[in-house]
Amino acid sequence: MPGPALDQISLTRLKGVGPSLAQKLSVLGIHSVQDLLFHLPLRYEDRTRIVPMRSVRLGETVQLEGEVVESRVTFGRRRSLQCTVTDQSAFICLRFFHFSASQKNALAPGTRIRCYGEVRRGRAGFELYHPEYKVLKDGEVEALTDALTPIYPTTEGLQQGRLRSIISQALELLDTAGGVQDFLPTALSRQLGLSGLTEAIRLIHRPPLDAPLDWSAAGMNPGQKRLAFEELLAHRLCMRRFRNDSNQQQAPQLAAEPPLLRQFLQQLPFSLTAAQRRVSGEIASDLAASHPMLRLLQGDVGSGKTVIAALSALQAIAAGYQVALMAPTEILAEQHLNNFQHWFAPLGLRVGWLSGKIKGTTRKTQLASLASGECQLLIGTHALFQDDVSYAKLGLIIIDEQHRFGVHQRLALRDKAALGRLNPHQLVMTATPIPRTLAMSAYADLDNSIIDELPPGRTPVNTAIISSERRSQVIDSIEQACAANSQAYWVCTLIEESEVLQCQAAEVTAEQLTSALPRVRVGLIHGRMKPAEKQSVMDQFKRGEIQLLVATTVIEVGVDVPNASLMVIENPERLGLAQLHQLRGRVGRGAKQSHCLLLYQSPLSEAGKQRLSVMRESNDGFYIAEKDLELRGPGQVLGTQQTGLMTFRIADIARDAGLLDEVKDASELVLRQHAEIIDPLIDRWLGARTSYVNV
Ligand code: ADP
Ligand code: MG
Repeated sequence: MPGPALDQISLTRLKGVGPSLAQKLSVLGIHSVQDLLFHLPLRYEDRTRIVPMRSVRLGETVQLEGEVVESRVTFGRRRSLQCTVTDQSAFICLRFFHFSASQKNALAPGTRIRCYGEVRRGRAGFELYHPEYKVLKDGEVEALTDALTPIYPTTEGLQQGRLRSIISQALELLDTAGGVQDFLPTALSRQLGLSGLTEAIRLIHRPPLDAPLDWSAAGMNPGQKRLAFEELLAHRLCMRRFRNDSNQQQAPQLAAEPPLLRQFLQQLPFSLTAAQRRVSGEIASDLAASHPMLRLLQGDVGSGKTVIAALSALQAIAAGYQVALMAPTEILAEQHLNNFQHWFAPLGLRVGWLSGKIKGTTRKTQLASLASGECQLLIGTHALFQDDVSYAKLGLIIIDEQHRFGVHQRLALRDKAALGRLNPHQLVMTATPIPRTLAMSAYADLDNSIIDELPPGRTPVNTAIISSERRSQVIDSIEQACAANSQAYWVCTLIEESEVLQCQAAEVTAEQLTSALPRVRVGLIHGRMKPAEKQSVMDQFKRGEIQLLVATTVIEVGVDVPNASLMVIENPERLGLAQLHQLRGRVGRGAKQSHCLLLYQSPLSEAGKQRLSVMRESNDGFYIAEKDLELRGPGQVLGTQQTGLMTFRIADIARDAGLLDEVKDASELVLRQHAEIIDPLIDRWLGARTSYVNV
């Protein structure tokens, strides 16, 4: 006779779980034994064997055992504890950038340790950075595990081992409770060859020893497939339902082709490309409809999305509505402000500006003119939707560079912006082309418009991959470019996860380049400068007073200086391909042949080489985005961390791309015939994150 259902069993029933631990688990969204079972491993580790040091390979994650022969603090670019270990077959070095005195003492020569980590190439040959390790007592034999070790997402104060043992208990209860409730219609599971849910959960937490460690590998186990399918289905259903709800809502009907539009087009110094005309037609007819537009506008860097945004804004303004244009960074928002003021002032329109830094009377005045309806277009950052901002008659929201906002923010924004009976239209613009697979799941609630053509007269950027050992040659080429009246960027990438250090690195580089290039006027821009300072540097660069601009990745978006024809990106291997493509898009904006030099830190791994060569081969953002997804290194964490778009517990858009067509069909089937399972499925997989669903 089965016991109570798993979602009814309280966590405190488990051994070792008291109120304080239950509290920690709730941070992870775990409130019942069933939630524990759906708390899925991020990856597995193989700690079933000790690898001889002689046979370790670069990039492998290994478990080693040996004796410390030397332990000392070294002072390179960064101070670190360097600890050499041997198992008689070879030596390997463990390196700790953060360490305490007691840790140093514990790792004294003669100590035997077992450690676990990824093999890298460091100053002392093969190294493990910050490996997990355990000091072994004299004569003690530490047993090896005989199964793969699942690694779970966890939270502060909850140790991996503790969490693992709690989940083990939940797995034992799985049998007595008669399994987990399976919502998928049996006919559907059978048709798609999916395994049962309870079976799938068991396989995920306790994979067979021969299961692939690397979840991005082709050989998915049936448990993984089943759960990934269900998760993707839940996400898609959530989006689809949102979309259906939204189709029931009312939006202002904005008449197409107002005279204002013609006036604007006449004052433009160019005519629209065919792709721009097609896309603006798609948007115009959406805006004329009586339900809210939800449209994603994709177009490569420089494809001319801003003009499209302007055209849609004019359609709303001409109909007597207000428009909000939101950008993710202040620099980008300012760039838009400049453009739109330049375009809209001659038409007699009122453009406003709001950012988090606007305070006091300026802010008050701005808010008042918005509330009265006087301000017709408001440009800014997240500040546009803070609580005290209210619009008289908001008809259209335009979001630029969507990927930085994330899907949940976007949905939350829609709720916030609703004004009584009428909901504003929404246009989302992104310069990071979204692979079809990603668009299908992350943007299933949006219609798609694509600008697949660049304005005429652009020459593709020529890209070269160069080792940092040839840095001085690269510096020479800057000298030449500047002597030929061109301008250049030098981009410093993230060294640490810290903005402060990143800016310091850029400062140091700027100093070095200033002394290496006495005839070149060097400027510096980074995220910690005041907006006014940044603006002034950008203006000087635009006017040609600065010839070489040293920058952090803040210049990624919103910079348009056609005379710049050379870009050096330092340590490009640290960035995603999509981001590199964005950066590179800052050059090649004029008629001149432009060059982009990817100055990598050698040695570069095979995978790293392969990734960078995609940049050399192609200037096509869509191709690059697909490749980026495809070539992502194995063993990376799943979901959001990679895409910046969505959190998945088990699905992986790249790996599971093959499932998406089936997911799509299944979601239509469920919407038509099994509406009763939508709520439970969404609740199981998206849980508390779906507050926006109930609009
Ligand atoms: P993005 O799509 O990256 O936002 P922008 O809107 O900033 O691109 O446009 C890049 C540049 O191309 C701008 O200087 C813009 O004025 C120019 N541009 C846009 N459309 C055209 C066109 N049809 N013909 C010529 N130049 C154009
Ligand atoms: Mg843009």
